[in-house]
Amino acid sequence: MPVFVHSTVIGVTANSAQIPYSFNDEVDMAAHNNNDRAAWLQGPSAQCSTPPETAQTPWRLVLLGAPGVGKGTQAELLNHRLGACHLSTGDVFRAAKSRDECLLSPAMKTALEHMRRGDLVPDSTVWDMVHERSGCLQCGGGFILDGFPRTLSQAESLKQLIEDEGLLLTAVVNYELPVSAIVARLGGRRTCKSCKAVFHATERPPKVAGTCDHCSAELFQREDDRPESIKIRLEAYDHSTAPLIAFYRNLGLLLSVAATGSPEDICGRTITALAEWRVRNSVPVLAGTRAKKRN
Ligand code: AMP
Repeated sequence: MPVFVHSTVIGVTANSAQIPYSFNDEVDMAAHNNNDRAAWLQGPSAQCSTPPETAQTPWRLVLLGAPGVGKGTQAELLNHRLGACHLSTGDVFRAAKSRDECLLSPAMKTALEHMRRGDLVPDSTVWDMVHERSGCLQCGGGFILDGFPRTLSQAESLKQLIEDEGLLLTAVVNYELPVSAIVARLGGRRTCKSCKAVFHATERPPKVAGTCDHCSAELFQREDDRPESIKIRLEAYDHSTAPLIAFYRNLGLLLSVAATGSPEDICGRTITALAEWRVRNSVPVLAGTRAKKRN
């Protein structure tokens, strides 16, 4: 099996003197920002109970990385630090899964079968779902896309949509981790049935085994975290998603971060790298036109 380690980890030895004062302000101001993501999870007819505050320069990020590198955990931590909303396509499918089957469209039923196997959901279904929720991409609080795009076709469609909406992608953060660590992380992952908080049997165990620290609900192992599904998911990543690294590198948007250490370490490393990134790319440019500006 291939090893998903890429050599160009951008230096994260940030000199705090180079980070503009307003960046630290922005991070602190957003420190308690969290919403229920209703418009994303349930679709455009739902409204978020506490929409994110409009940011002066919203963060519009895509998180890349193999399944199990911790994109979901990082998206949550980054949401708290940056205020931008965590938009996960996997979460939309899981929310649909918990609904009455009679209410699901045929396309969604097929999507959930793919998901159970660990396979990618067809591009057309994913795109319809994201397109329907494009209002979330326009949110003044910004966004952190987690699990989307996952194929070149999805990435092309997203690029077009972002350009059509006159928006700018800030950066695409690519989390890097050796495959052996990825398999260990996925196999030990446990998710709360109620609040969806994520734990790990050994790396981040709950205080009481099998019980969520936050809401005391039961923890479970996701169907697609079982060994047979993990293999299919890693193959799907290697075949369909890994090419996005070159796609975004060519657009000058790729920012690679090592996904080793604790979630807080990784988040700190990401924030530092993003701060440096904003300093280096201080003049915003349209997605797709930044290649010549990269260091
Ligand atoms: P995740 O929580 O991001 O690991 O997603 C869980 C599962 O949902 C994946 O294994 C896929 O079956 C499906 N899925 C989520 N996002 C996408 C996407 N962008 N393209 C195709 N399938 C997806």
